[in-house]
Amino acid sequence: MSRLIMISNRVQLPSSGGNQGGLAVALQAALRDKGGIWFGWSGETTEQFTGEIHYREANGVTTATIDLEQQDVDEYYDGFANRTLWPLFHYRIDLTEFERDFNSGYARVNRRFAETVGPLIEADDLVWVHDYHMIPLGAELREQGCANRIGFFLHIPWPPADMLLSLPSHRELVEALFAYDVVGFQTQDWLDSFLHYVERQLGGTIAEDGTVTVGERSVRVFADPIGIETASFEEAAAAAPARHAQERMYMSATGRTLIVGVDRLDYSKGLEERFLGFERFLSLHPDFRGLVYMLQIAPPSRENVETYRAIRAGLDALSGRINGEYSDMDYVPIRYVNKGFARDVLAGIYRAARICLVTPLRDGMNLVAKEYVAAQDPADPGVLILSSFAGAAAQLKDALLVNPYSPEEIADAIAQALAMPRAERVARWEKMIDIVRREDVTWWCNRFLDMLEREPAPRAPLHQLG
Ligand code: UDP
Repeated sequence: MSRLIMISNRVQLPSSGGNQGGLAVALQAALRDKGGIWFGWSGETTEQFTGEIHYREANGVTTATIDLEQQDVDEYYDGFANRTLWPLFHYRIDLTEFERDFNSGYARVNRRFAETVGPLIEADDLVWVHDYHMIPLGAELREQGCANRIGFFLHIPWPPADMLLSLPSHRELVEALFAYDVVGFQTQDWLDSFLHYVERQLGGTIAEDGTVTVGERSVRVFADPIGIETASFEEAAAAAPARHAQERMYMSATGRTLIVGVDRLDYSKGLEERFLGFERFLSLHPDFRGLVYMLQIAPPSRENVETYRAIRAGLDALSGRINGEYSDMDYVPIRYVNKGFARDVLAGIYRAARICLVTPLRDGMNLVAKEYVAAQDPADPGVLILSSFAGAAAQLKDALLVNPYSPEEIADAIAQALAMPRAERVARWEKMIDIVRREDVTWWCNRFLDMLEREPAPRAPLHQLG
């Protein structure tokens, strides 16, 4: 049986705490099953890049990591990945920084990854590369003569063709994807944007089985929405730490209805627009003032990127203004918390919330939406308000879908959710949990690996695209 070589920016060893994300758990399970290595950056820097590999092992999973130079981190990670590709792929050209140094740092780090992981790959291994940090890695591996089956999965959206054109190196980036055998996207929408670009800019052709051909190179593409570890999340929601968290929420709510939001502090999450939507609700529905409050959990991220510091300052000011206007001696409408919580605690918070607001302006998938559904009490579930622009909306059609840019739509959806009879809440939830259970993270992982295993191997060396 083929071993699995998993490659992503960061790696995660199994921990005994049980608080890992579903993605890490699924990838570790696949590694345990097939044997192999998870390769990535250690998160550490070194004076001079040596390519020395640090191996670690826990619970049947082996990770192999390398240290990078500070300049690599600045140009590749903080630079091209987080200041160029992340904003551009989330439709934010206004925040996208185009620096040639970022581009060359991105190419250099991908080459360094390929040179260090290349010798670890054996003839029959399957190679699975993850996310926007690593797009050119497949081509770098092919340059070194790697003929294995190599797959790539993009966890974030793919931008519309016209938007991608604003990236000076757009062609190079897309051509690099043709070094893979299989490329997976979260939704059909992101896949369609990719195909549109390929047809228009590269003159590619698309066969019915999802094979895309440009010149002499073909790649199989498909939509494979990522899921959560549903069964274990449902269990966590009924276990002691969740029950304790739920109890704490009820005690502190003193009879008020809780609306929850859980997002990394990121401009793609639409937090400002969400606060404005809640403010609109309070202004349109004075009867509910004092009866409904919102808990926004927003752990900071990427704090060494200026844009992220700016949104934090903006949200501090906005929540302060709304609270200043609508608070009372015993009521604060927005509890805004800049720290993260463990998954088993989050599960209890989700369960205590009558409404979950998941309103990103653009999101590859959004796992919080699925976790909220999985954490609900089947007899009395809450209501999910979900942005139509999150990948999850393609599966969770029974949520209340909103345009996250519109404060009125958010306010109306809150009012509708608060008035929704239990029978309708149950009916909507049952349809959603069905999908969240069926299309869980293991389903996603197996679908991708099955697709990759079906590819004939070995592959011819890389040719230039014609
Ligand atoms: N999360 C967490 N603790 C927190 C906030 C978030 O463990 O305090 C987890 C959350 O449960 C989810 C993940 O972080 O599994 C966020 O994934 P999502 O797809 O929603 O957004 P991303 O941050 O990947 O853009």
